Amino acid sequence: MFTIKSPKTLPPKLLSLKNKGKKIGFVPTMGYLHDGHISLVRKARKECDVVVVSMFVNPTQFGPNEDFKKYPRDTKKDKIILLKEKVDYLFLPSKETMYRKKHSVYVEEHRMTKILCGKFRPGHFRGVLTIVAKLFQIVQPSRAYFGQKDLQQAYLISKMVDDLNMPVQIIICPIIREESGLAMSSRNTYLSESEKHRALSIRKGLDQVITLVKKGRKDITLLKKEGSKTVKKGCDNLQYFEIIELPNFTMPRRIEKGKRYAVLCAAFVSQTRLIDNRIFKG
Ligand code: AMP
Repeated sequence: MFTIKSPKTLPPKLLSLKNKGKKIGFVPTMGYLHDGHISLVRKARKECDVVVVSMFVNPTQFGPNEDFKKYPRDTKKDKIILLKEKVDYLFLPSKETMYRKKHSVYVEEHRMTKILCGKFRPGHFRGVLTIVAKLFQIVQPSRAYFGQKDLQQAYLISKMVDDLNMPVQIIICPIIREESGLAMSSRNTYLSESEKHRALSIRKGLDQVITLVKKGRKDITLLKKEGSKTVKKGCDNLQYFEIIELPNFTMPRRIEKGKRYAVLCAAFVSQTRLIDNRIFKG
């Protein structure tokens, strides 16, 4: 595995591979890898000739009162994991090379970012879309892999690629969970055992909506009310519990047969903000 730090060094290396007809698969991450990240790497390894993973804790997607400084980092351990997974290139840029002093161009989306996480984390998706667009320019992948865990992010990236004619295929991979059902996240490291237990109420609330839908309940207000009640039993502060229709993230009033939906939740357990979701069919 080659570790490359400079955004200028990586493109010519990858371009020469691309010119030889190699398919480049890309997995962008913020590091502190867990099985969720690894599932994306494995899928890329299976489907592509060359696998590139980036690790960069992107400052522009964190709000002023968020956890940029304390976000967990362990590059040494991450490198061992990526070596084992037979990754070809690790891109490990610095903050200074990714955002030079005079950086002033950003990517913004003006519809889907107004709801859910976008509403509670102003500027977050502007930071995400900007860094992903920059990384796509540097890596020029054929395919890029994202987790359903960050559903709104994955759909926004698909929208960016579509709207801005970026020549990359976006692959959305399933959520990997701990045995308990808790969605894996680098931020789970902030949680004590009892907090992890309380966090399970998020998954329970999402499951409850799907059970009710299977029983024939169609009224969104009722579904949201029941699901949020369950989440609140374990969590300290529920930011949102919403049901949206896929793929456009529109807010339906009733569940209709054959359509695809997602139920999404963001809630705090003590100081830790957690997100999770499930996709289902009407
Ligand atoms: P992050 O390092 O948190 O920015 O995540 C990097 C990528 O891994 C994103 O596409 C995430 O959606 C994905 N990811 C994070 N957690 C999980 C998980 N539990 N299951 C599947 N993918 C995940």
